Amino acid sequence: MGLGEHLRQQLAAKALQRQLERVSEEANAPFVPPRKAALPATGAARNELCSFESMPGYQQVQIMRQMSDTLRVESPFFRVHEGVAGATTQIGGVQYINYANYNYLGLAGDARVLASAKAAIDRYGTSASASRIVAGERPVQRDLEYKLAAFYEADDCVAFVSGHATNVTVIGSLFGPGDLIVHDALAHNSIVQGAQLSGAKRLSFTHNDWSALDALLARTRQDYRRVLIAIEGLYSMDGDVPDLARFVEIKQRHAAFLMVDEAHSVGVLGTGGKGIREHCNVPSNAVDIWMGTLSKTLAGCGGFIAGSQALIDILRHLAPGFLYSVGLAPALAAASLAALDCLIAQPERVALLRERGHQFLVEARGAGFNTGTSAGYAVVPVITGSSLKAAQWANALFEEGINVQPIFYPAVEEKAARLRFFICSTHEREQISHTVATLARIAGR
Ligand code: PMP
Repeated sequence: MGLGEHLRQQLAAKALQRQLERVSEEANAPFVPPRKAALPATGAARNELCSFESMPGYQQVQIMRQMSDTLRVESPFFRVHEGVAGATTQIGGVQYINYANYNYLGLAGDARVLASAKAAIDRYGTSASASRIVAGERPVQRDLEYKLAAFYEADDCVAFVSGHATNVTVIGSLFGPGDLIVHDALAHNSIVQGAQLSGAKRLSFTHNDWSALDALLARTRQDYRRVLIAIEGLYSMDGDVPDLARFVEIKQRHAAFLMVDEAHSVGVLGTGGKGIREHCNVPSNAVDIWMGTLSKTLAGCGGFIAGSQALIDILRHLAPGFLYSVGLAPALAAASLAALDCLIAQPERVALLRERGHQFLVEARGAGFNTGTSAGYAVVPVITGSSLKAAQWANALFEEGINVQPIFYPAVEEKAARLRFFICSTHEREQISHTVATLARIAGR
């Protein structure tokens, strides 16, 4: 590509980004009703009120499509995988080395996990069909919860049908007006959505900056009844970890609850895969709400909360996302239970994941790439500095048989655009070296 063409593309992409920013601002602006709120009787203004095409969300999708066209990249989203996706995957009949999923311990295709899920289907069918409180339970759902509670050294545990819905319904129902929810600036969307649903005041603090949290609470704590601090065990965009002991000390000093989302840290951190508490040597009961997803190392689909008996009693009887939603499908509960058994019996998988993650980090840094604050556990970003470069590098890697997800603006700031590599314990050493060497060649290093 000539320099002129490259410049033209960048300018066009910038113009589209500005357009996207404007549409997003419009979408988030509060609706101010006109003074005389008469509904237009006929015509375009009336039709617009009931057309999806006129919604700002649709315009955002259109602009993102135009951005793909302008950057001349085939959309990397919604790719169809034709088998189990792990360290490798098949897309369009072609084998790829794969860095675009959370099957961190390779358990989603493990023979024992598959056999356990199949046996649960044979025994209980494919669906729990209704809420557990009204329609009853299957032993495998409780078995999973007991095992997770023991793994977390907690009184009890409750499982939900989605990790995202777990955060939304748990945060949304435990807290309310008069309370304060403070979360890390990079907290997952489900934490933010839960906080918004709760009606509590929501504030964020600079990513991983416990001193900023401390200062924020020193200023605001007395204005609220209950306070929740929500952090993650391993951040999926940057691959870094919080200093858990500091957060525990702060939550104790300010009389707050502490919730830790272990979506990316359970089965990843600590020698036994017990997550951030093992990594930081903090006792389980120092954290009030342990949250995790079943979809990543645990090879299923769903979410869970582990904690005190009082907490789990409230959620099992009152959390709308549990009460008014179907019970976890027995096959998924069985898959996650078997995956948890494998994790406990085979900590060498966790050690292997750590080794591969560190190898990726060291080799990527050695090749001169910016890996940000990644600690080298399962998630390593390569920050490209522009959406255009992220798209071009991801496309070039795909052509060379390597599948990795580019992260563009607006998911991150334009200068923080990146390729996000998720590492599995099943990646071979050579696959990682080959990937970094290929990327270095593409990047002209
Ligand atoms: N929390 C975090 C930190 C996540 O990254 C995710 C999803 N990747 C979720 C919650 C939601 O989990 P699930 O995809 O299992 O619904």
